[in-house]
Amino acid sequence: MRAEAVIDLAALRGNIRALRARTGSAAVMSVVKADAYGHGMVPCARAAVEAGSGWLGTATPEEALGLRAAGITAEQARVLCWLWTPAGPWRQAVAADIDISVSGEWALRHVLDAVRAVGRPARVHLKADTGLGRNGAQPHDWPALVAAARAAEAEGLLTVAGVWSHFACADEPGHPANASQLAGFRTALAVAEAAGLRPEVRHLANSPAALLMPEAHFDLVRAGLAQYGLSPVPEIAGPEEFGLRPVMTFQAALAQVKRVPAGHGVSYGHSYVTAGETTLALVPVGYADGVPRHASGTGPLWIGGKWRTVAGRVAMDQFVVDLGGDRAEVGDLAVLFGPGDRGEPTAEDWARATGTISYEIVTRIGARVPRRYV
Ligand code: PLP
Repeated sequence: MRAEAVIDLAALRGNIRALRARTGSAAVMSVVKADAYGHGMVPCARAAVEAGSGWLGTATPEEALGLRAAGITAEQARVLCWLWTPAGPWRQAVAADIDISVSGEWALRHVLDAVRAVGRPARVHLKADTGLGRNGAQPHDWPALVAAARAAEAEGLLTVAGVWSHFACADEPGHPANASQLAGFRTALAVAEAAGLRPEVRHLANSPAALLMPEAHFDLVRAGLAQYGLSPVPEIAGPEEFGLRPVMTFQAALAQVKRVPAGHGVSYGHSYVTAGETTLALVPVGYADGVPRHASGTGPLWIGGKWRTVAGRVAMDQFVVDLGGDRAEVGDLAVLFGPGDRGEPTAEDWARATGTISYEIVTRIGARVPRRYV
């Protein structure tokens, strides 16, 4: 083993159960886009379904089709994809019984073309932009989108299965945008209902709102980060306080251990120079594997029961650690991050050390790193 990401599917299932206990009557959609935030889409989706998630969420229709191709049927889980683009495989998506998010009348027209070509109705979720400013219909365009969807529904061309929106600042519970988006969503729902739509699911909450804003749960919460056992609000509470356990452990086997003299430059640019005679260990992962280059000189890892720090620059495939007077053997484990309960760093520690969020740390673990499911 050079390096591996160990994926604890029991922890994933436990996290989904913890979320379900918290959200009561609202269902949980397991967000498995971006290869399940780096954890592996299909195994995580299967585990999520086993743990009772009746919904899976993806960004692209290609990801959604990948779930169906892996044998996850519409009876096992509804799949919603929300990143609408003009060249998407919408006919295949309609044929594969995938729920499609629609943010405007132009998208609706494309979906209706697909419906006519395939000869079966689509299921759509109308998306309102309540303040995030990404996709979704603005309030002034919403009534027309609702009316067009209602007319298509009356013709039997589609079912409006959902009305939904997405928060901008749910990880800051006191942010005024949250109340404003909640009010905007209620207005959008009222407009939809007044036009005769009866969506099966109304949904707004992501992980932070699922954990901290019960008033935003509606019929369904879309949980990504929390199901992978990471806290979306690390400044407020760690995962354990929400009953969550990190799912991914990222580790590598030391590839070389050697003594070097004082004054030895380490890695590109010699940004680190040994202070005295010391032992250097080579960790065979780099930025091609998702180790942030910003971790140069700051990234924590755990070798032989001690925290260490990346010495010098992270290169494409490797970086170096200065072990000082400690011993290590080739093949010893270097744990970059894990659940943290053995004392090892967590993905959140890596996020802090590199000025990013844990979402990015796990999602960027590269395709070259094999996933081992336990
Ligand atoms: N819903 C949408 C539309 C998203 O884009 C995402 C992820 O970015 C999520 C839900 C899940 O967010 P989180 O990982 O915070 O639960």
